[in-house]
Amino acid sequence: MPLSSVAAHVDERELPFYESVGNECSMFEHAFRQRLPLLLKGPTGCGKTRFVSHMAAKLGRPLFTISCHDDLTSADLTGRYLLQGGETRWVDGPLTRAVREGGICYLDEVVEARKDVTVVLHPLTDDRRLLPLERTGELLEAPDDFMLVVSYNPGYQHILKSLKPSTRQRFLALSFDFPPPKIERDIVARESGLPGEQCAALVNLAASLRAMKGQDLEEGVSTRLLVYCATLIAAGVPILEAARATLVEPLSDDADVQEGLMEAIHATF
Ligand code: ADP
Repeated sequence: MPLSSVAAHVDERELPFYESVGNECSMFEHAFRQRLPLLLKGPTGCGKTRFVSHMAAKLGRPLFTISCHDDLTSADLTGRYLLQGGETRWVDGPLTRAVREGGICYLDEVVEARKDVTVVLHPLTDDRRLLPLERTGELLEAPDDFMLVVSYNPGYQHILKSLKPSTRQRFLALSFDFPPPKIERDIVARESGLPGEQCAALVNLAASLRAMKGQDLEEGVSTRLLVYCATLIAAGVPILEAARATLVEPLSDDADVQEGLMEAIHATF
């Protein structure tokens, strides 16, 4: 399919809701049109996955999402022979499908995957854009409307699990962070249905909780958790109970740290 005909007229209101923070939407579109792979860096729960599903819908391409984990092998991406009805048949994995059909393949938390996964990705990220399938003997060439997107969280990965320069330097990269307060308030209000004023108070609270990151906390409270908190409050759960279940317990198991977080919450509500 020629790229110019990709999703010429899309109604923004029908796309998965994504509030942009900077130039990330146009950079994504450029990367797609120039056939460049994209790396998204940023903390968990700050909107990376939502961004990719928004852009895939906007560009009118199917999205193949793979959440990486330490057991994920290249066969989980490319495919494998399976016994079906007494016959052995090759079944494409999500990466192969995205290459064959044209689509966006999103590997979430790519550093979690095993080493052989990056080996499969390399030929797809250079300008030949190839996917060799050793098991079937095929060499697939990615069509113009195939795009590879990977994400990782540089914050909590220890050194052994960061991306190797030889891999990361194959990608155009965008940094994500929690949205600025006004935008985050609008996101939380839109996602939860809680009135803007109350969402603004939650976003203020998030700023003081995020300031505790590093001292005792590995990760600051995410936009996702703020949405959870606001959703519970909108459903009638008392604020302090909602906050404990969404902004304290998921962040730490340490009683002292939890107490510190609760103090900040009491100071706001
Ligand atoms: P990540 O992939 O970075 O871990 P997600 O994309 O799953 O995070 O975001 C978590 C939730 O936060 C989303 O489901 C959505 O409710 C909300 N969110 C965060 N950022 C945005 C944004 N910019 N626009 C719309 N929703 C957002």
